[in-house]
Amino acid sequence: MRRSLLLAAGLLACLPAFPVLADYPDKPITLVVPFAAGGPTDKVARDLAEALRKPLGGTVIIDNVAGAGGTMGANKVAKAAPDGYTLLLHHIGIASAPSLYRTLPYKTLDDFEYLGMVNEVPMTVIGRANLPANNFAELSKWLEANKDKVNLAHAGVGSASHLCGLLFQSALKLNMTTVPYKGTAPAMNDLLGGQVDVMCDQTTNTTGQIESGKVKAYAVTTPRRLPNGPLAKLPTADESGLKGFNVSVWHGVYAPKGTPKAVVDKVNAALRVALNDADFHKRQEALGAVIITDARTTPAEHKKFVEAEINKLGPVIKAAGQYAD
Ligand code: ASP
Repeated sequence: MRRSLLLAAGLLACLPAFPVLADYPDKPITLVVPFAAGGPTDKVARDLAEALRKPLGGTVIIDNVAGAGGTMGANKVAKAAPDGYTLLLHHIGIASAPSLYRTLPYKTLDDFEYLGMVNEVPMTVIGRANLPANNFAELSKWLEANKDKVNLAHAGVGSASHLCGLLFQSALKLNMTTVPYKGTAPAMNDLLGGQVDVMCDQTTNTTGQIESGKVKAYAVTTPRRLPNGPLAKLPTADESGLKGFNVSVWHGVYAPKGTPKAVVDKVNAALRVALNDADFHKRQEALGAVIITDARTTPAEHKKFVEAEINKLGPVIKAAGQYAD
């Protein structure tokens, strides 16, 4: 009796702390979005959750854990049980934050399993509808003339809009007052209301507002103009005088470190099916996003890519340092 009890205890000790069920997922998976609901990261996550449902064979629900430029949501996932039921949808901010914060509550390369890349989204430089500048040259002049009272909105230090705004101020050699929000959805509300003046934001959030004339668009942040769609006529920041200006927001999916390989493989396989889903393509491409289907959709290559981005952004952020919040 004593021997068999000992044997049973020994066997239990060998089991993983979070058992991997062969039928994973057998309950809804939470996909943490580190920004406010209704914004561009949220939009990618909700479209992706829908595309993942079939290949994953389960429901994916969204949890908006907004704050501190995306680092709060990332930290929640870094500390979550590594059982495959808490995942993170983040963006370029996961790679810019290490250069913007003296300390982070998580280790970017050590505390996550990298599941794969999703898409790349251009940003736009936009302003409130009643801003007295109708093109990029007029905007630059207006910003220079009003530099003491201009408010630049962003989604917190470490967000994509913060990075873009930082590089924008640095390129124009202007120090503006910056106003942090929990995401660019609430920031957009204030831009629409005229409480703030300018912002950078993903086309997935700005296309509709630009088209309906509710905000003014001055430039796209990619090196080339958008190949098609409603914003194809928008000049690039580069051709407007900010030589070399290039910000494009990539998104990826992450899990807490220690998530079993079987789960990582299953989510990655489902992700790669979702990235070929015609409906997902249609919804995202209509808003200027480019879906990734190359090697960066694999865990190993995505991790390499993020590491390279951290190394690339470090010196860029350092050079723009005097304009940082
Ligand atoms: N667009 C935001 C950013 O600047 C994030 C968001 O609200 O989705 O990172």
